[in-house]
Amino acid sequence: MRYFDRLRDMAIVRSPIMRIRALGRHPERRTDILTTVMYHGMPAHTRGAFPRQLDYMRSLGDFVTASQAVEILRSQARIAGKYFCVTFDDGLKDAFVNAIPILAERGIPSIFFIVPSWVSASDRTYMSWDDCRQLAQHGATVGSHSLSHHRFSTLDGHQAREELVASKSRLELETGLPCEHFACPWGQPGGDYVPHRDPQLAEEVGYRSFFTTIRGAAQSGASAWAIPRTRLEPDWGIHQLRYLFTR
Ligand SMILES: [Zn+2]
Repeated sequence: MRYFDRLRDMAIVRSPIMRIRALGRHPERRTDILTTVMYHGMPAHTRGAFPRQLDYMRSLGDFVTASQAVEILRSQARIAGKYFCVTFDDGLKDAFVNAIPILAERGIPSIFFIVPSWVSASDRTYMSWDDCRQLAQHGATVGSHSLSHHRFSTLDGHQAREELVASKSRLELETGLPCEHFACPWGQPGGDYVPHRDPQLAEEVGYRSFFTTIRGAAQSGASAWAIPRTRLEPDWGIHQLRYLFTR
């Protein structure tokens, strides 16, 4: 059912009547505390639109790192304001090449969720280990997106744990930095992962968060073990963001 939800969302967001649907939508009036946006690739022709999206988000709130996002959710104190966390899945080379300079220029933090078995030294589709090491110099963090991007719901507990542990240790070995955050492949509870098992496994092996693709934004006090994310394409217009940020 969630698969069709996602297809329907994409169809709505891309439809010609999107501008009309976005009228009367006011993200600035929402009381959500944390909106986590999820990108994948960033082809060169989208470089013009991406900064406009960032500027729009900045007009609504402040950008935070994944660790700050977790602290905000865990904080018992009522935190005022709106926060945005920028994430990239799969470790695609064009996201590294095209997004990082734009983010760095604006001082906006981000996290790249890397699949170690997709990291490549020669294929230009995916980032190399050297690219991963360079992220820290530009204010970006490396997180795990599992070892091999299997659907966790098809794995037994031992295999799921291994995906979490082996990806974390490989990323830490290659970057020399702690890998504290995890984004689940595909990310829908039930269909893609086991909600009563996998976030708990992630916590047991030392992660501090479990990012999903559950739609919407998070309120203060929400769990760091099922952080919702909003999928964006870098060339979408502000009217599309207005719609998605108020679903
Ligand atoms: Zn993925």
